[in-house]
Amino acid sequence: MSATSESSSAVAADFVLRGASELVTMSAPPAEGLGAIAGGALAAKDGVIVWVGREAELPQAVDLAPDGLDIDAQGRCVLPGFVDAHTHVPFAGSRAAEYGERLAGASYGEILASGGINVTVEATREASEEELARLARLRYDSMLRHGTTTAEVKSGYGLTVADEAKQLRAAATPHPLRRELTFLGAHFVPPEYAGRADDYIRLVCDEMIPACAPLARWCDVFCDEGAFTVAQARRVLLAGRAAGLSLRIHADELARSGGSMLAAELGCASADHLIHATGEEIAALKAAGVVAVMLPGTSYTLGVEFAPARAFLEAGVTIALASDFNPGTCDCENLQMMISLACQGMKLTPDEALHAATAGGAVALRRDDVGSLEVGKRCDFGVLVAESRTELPYHFGVNLVSDVVVGGRVAVQDGVVAREAPAPEPAAPLAKQAFPDRGGTA
Ligand SMILES: [Zn+2]
Repeated sequence: MSATSESSSAVAADFVLRGASELVTMSAPPAEGLGAIAGGALAAKDGVIVWVGREAELPQAVDLAPDGLDIDAQGRCVLPGFVDAHTHVPFAGSRAAEYGERLAGASYGEILASGGINVTVEATREASEEELARLARLRYDSMLRHGTTTAEVKSGYGLTVADEAKQLRAAATPHPLRRELTFLGAHFVPPEYAGRADDYIRLVCDEMIPACAPLARWCDVFCDEGAFTVAQARRVLLAGRAAGLSLRIHADELARSGGSMLAAELGCASADHLIHATGEEIAALKAAGVVAVMLPGTSYTLGVEFAPARAFLEAGVTIALASDFNPGTCDCENLQMMISLACQGMKLTPDEALHAATAGGAVALRRDDVGSLEVGKRCDFGVLVAESRTELPYHFGVNLVSDVVVGGRVAVQDGVVAREAPAPEPAAPLAKQAFPDRGGTA
């Protein structure tokens, strides 16, 4: 090696973040403090992190391009972007009235008789692809503002070949939020197939999957009491796999109904809900390396018990924390709220919940490029209106994220989504103005 100037050993970057009170890298497990660096900084090039360390080392370590973006977190906490591994974003219509009916004591059957999920199916079928895409973008904006930078997004309210494909195309509408699209044609039996579930499964396997597989990465199925049986779910997942899709499953939410065991049998990436999982299911998921996706917002909305998250953790199962954002049982896209609910309802520690909402979500989606702030990962992070991550579950019900960066570009500044994909140069530094009042804009 020839002698070179000091700067030539520095890594080239076009993006620098400095001024973090703590940079939560998520490079270590919860028991080891999540790899948080007090006074941390990072640098990126072309949207990928090239350096992480203490800010004091930044000048020697990083060579920032003259036109690079230099962001000052102004003494606030910086976290990896949340990875929401379970959402049902593209739908039309509202079911807010149903919530009041349920609180007043209406049963699931009574709600279904007056509409229920069929209200969403009807509205989604009637909506144009453009309208669904518009609605999806509004929800993606909200997810970004709350710190989510990667989200899994399911179809499942079209329930015809054309309408499922329409939902998936709408879900792929251009937006800074990273997405993983999932075909969920086997969400439930649509009204026109009432009493003929096997005929519907045939339609899903023979026609929907061939039409939708090119539009998605994942195939999901709702395997539960009142939804699809294990045998039906197996047919759908095997057809999905044969069409090139990877697998995930709604399992053991309404009853202990075999979904987890099927997830283990087929090697699904995740099994989701799991309220009724017992030791047998937990052991099977552990042995098969299936991620357990916890959805506390649904338990909260329905007023039912929470999934046994602690038992999964103690068995060594990787858990993810997701929103289950959907119009019927969890109209909440805010993973900060899920972190708070998981601490209270599932007895996770704040760091366990935060890990599950970032690194855990990435494992559930089998992505090794998001979920932590490490060299080689995407430069996706959120800046809190707080000095410490400990505020997250404690100061609940409001949006503590003020600024969000996706791929080294400012996507949310001071609570406002950047309207245009930030061009290489203008992207203004984060929050030059004084901090907004604690509380933000929930
Ligand atoms: Zn779901």
